[in-house]
Amino acid sequence: MAVLICGGAGYIGSHVNQCFSRNGRDTVVFDNLVYGHREAVKWGRFVKGDLSDRRALESVFSEYAIDAVVHLAAYAYVGESVAKPEKYYINNVANTLNLLSVMRKFGCGRLVFSSTCATYGEPESLPITEDMPQNPVNPYGRTKLMAEQIFCDYEKAYGMKFAILRYFNAAGADPEGTIGESHDPETHLIPLVLLAAAGKRKEVSVFGTDYNTPDGSCIRDYIHVSDLADAHLLALSYLEREEKSCYLNLGNERGTSVFEVIAAAKKVTGKDFPVRKCPRRPGDPAKLVGSSRLAGELLGWKPKYPDIETIVEHAWNWQKKRENSYEGY
Ligand code: UDP
Repeated sequence: MAVLICGGAGYIGSHVNQCFSRNGRDTVVFDNLVYGHREAVKWGRFVKGDLSDRRALESVFSEYAIDAVVHLAAYAYVGESVAKPEKYYINNVANTLNLLSVMRKFGCGRLVFSSTCATYGEPESLPITEDMPQNPVNPYGRTKLMAEQIFCDYEKAYGMKFAILRYFNAAGADPEGTIGESHDPETHLIPLVLLAAAGKRKEVSVFGTDYNTPDGSCIRDYIHVSDLADAHLLALSYLEREEKSCYLNLGNERGTSVFEVIAAAKKVTGKDFPVRKCPRRPGDPAKLVGSSRLAGELLGWKPKYPDIETIVEHAWNWQKKRENSYEGY
């Protein structure tokens, strides 16, 4: 039996594929390569395809004995989701329905889903727990919440089981440096800071220095991508063992400010670079820190690399190496 990893050529998906393969799971990666990288699929089998293409999906299910799906195929640029909501609702919601429909046709009833802390919007208090209200503040977050609601209805009606994983800020790279992060365009803080350290960007912009936080910059909960990958494997084992759905935050339960990330990067790389204070970026909550107590309890998940300097170091090792990997910056 094989696990289908939709979006397995992307940043988080490629680490999930690595983790599953290393733990003896047979994997089939399905990815349209719009944002993913073929070179990032170093394990299992690869099928190039789009979730809008029902026939392509059906042929994957016909060819391989798929007994579970990990679904990470989505667009995830918040700003773009505001400018082009249709693109997001079609890919993240309608195409997810397509996948569910094909899963039902082939009797496949387990799905691990990549959701996000963006479904919570502006939290009332910290740390965020899974039972807090979900009021996303942008179309991206709404598409993920809609998918969660669809899963809830599908569970009740069709008995399918879902592990909904709400990631906080995925960061870092495979500690061995085989795969890592490569977005185009790059908008995420840690890779941008490391590009500045490498002299490939002239400065780092800090979006907002007047937040109600100790140093005025935004606070996020950065979680190592390999720790996230482990949680997917544990979540699938949970579905297989318990036959119950679960909704889980995945973070480190510690907040790190933008200035603290920059300081960690300067320390790890030994490089200095200019830092510019800029206006706030629209849609950014001041602080997002999650409680992962439930993931610990239900899955036995415990992050191996919680320290921000380790996360930055692994990202830096990858960035130095990747000049010859994937395509450019
Ligand atoms: N950020 C920043 N400068 C940048 C990119 C990001 O100050 O060039 C800030 C951003 O405002 C947020 C944090 O860094 O507070 C993390 O942003 P990122 O885009 O990495 O992840 P997000 O929190 O949006 O998922």
